[in-house]
Amino acid sequence: MIKRILCQIASICLVLLMFNGCSNLIENSENIRTSIDAHSSTVYAMDTVMELTVYGSEDILEKSENLIYELESEFSAMDTESDIYNVNHNGGGVVSSDTGELLKLALSLCERSEGALDISIYPVVQAWGFTSGENRIPSETELKELLQLVDYKAVRVDDNNNVTLVPGMEIDLGSVAKGYTGNRLVELLSENGVTNAVLNLGGNVHVIGTKPDGEAWRVAVTDPVGGGYAGMVEVVDKAVITSGGYERFFEQDGVRYHHIIDPTTGYPANNDFLSVTVVGSNGAVCDALSTALFVMGPDRATEFWKESNDFEAVFITSEGICITEGLEDVFSPLGDYQNKQVTVLYRD
Ligand code: ADP
Ligand code: MG
Repeated sequence: MIKRILCQIASICLVLLMFNGCSNLIENSENIRTSIDAHSSTVYAMDTVMELTVYGSEDILEKSENLIYELESEFSAMDTESDIYNVNHNGGGVVSSDTGELLKLALSLCERSEGALDISIYPVVQAWGFTSGENRIPSETELKELLQLVDYKAVRVDDNNNVTLVPGMEIDLGSVAKGYTGNRLVELLSENGVTNAVLNLGGNVHVIGTKPDGEAWRVAVTDPVGGGYAGMVEVVDKAVITSGGYERFFEQDGVRYHHIIDPTTGYPANNDFLSVTVVGSNGAVCDALSTALFVMGPDRATEFWKESNDFEAVFITSEGICITEGLEDVFSPLGDYQNKQVTVLYRD
């Protein structure tokens, strides 16, 4: 947990550094918009540290914080008052319009990823102790038994947001909740006239517009090995969302076990990926896909990207960095990765 928070603080620091750079630019630039003030707030929610920086009215920050807390209280699988807790402990129930919308979107991405994303993996995640913090390695027999309950196709959500699960099944929106929250914050801020903002939801970054000086935002991609930065992307109106085995894990007998589970085995996804960063317009889709592609591994993830047109990606393996063609002009390697080759994937 401490490692995780430090890592999140590190990525937030980078965003702050970007602001220092950007305020210099504001002072020196010809197209100065000095009347725009930056207002920031730090929120601890969804088991992570969130940093909101908005250019414009300060009042909107309080509304943004309230929206985060409201969504957290609906999506959390641990909060005994939440929609998801209620559904998990009663085999179903009526959920809020946000929970219903996110559930339907998540289920469509479970389908699109052919089960690499599966929101019904929760009992397996619990068995590994990732929810309680009391990590353990479940036995093969235990995993086999739990996997019989894992099947997103059995989750039903009707038009009235009435959810039905099969007995024993439990769901969790941890793989998509922060991305959806980012989308809703972007919506709220835009409706209130904010045209420049950066929202760092525990390393999942959403940007609105450009920096106030008109330049693209520079968002760092964490080095999954060294903990510094592997690269950065320059983006406008986008979400940049990463999943990696370095984010939350425990070690036993020299083996690392992380929190992203392959639903076909019940074990942490074990392929050449160290991290997957997804860049796109819809934060919830990016969040779902970063988790799903990380489970798929390099070959399947590359094929999946070739068949899609709604996202770009940065894949990091021990071999180095691969980026998809849409990032060719906006990605720059940083640190040790400047001396390594960056491979560009094309659709041909
Ligand atoms: P994070 O939330 O740590 O940024 P992710 O978005 O990749 O990372 O989500 C990981 C969370 O999703 C895990 O903590 C777990 O609750 C859940 N999860 C793990 N494996 C899967 C999976 N294959 N499909 C759906 N959810 C998963
Ligand atoms: Mg995710």
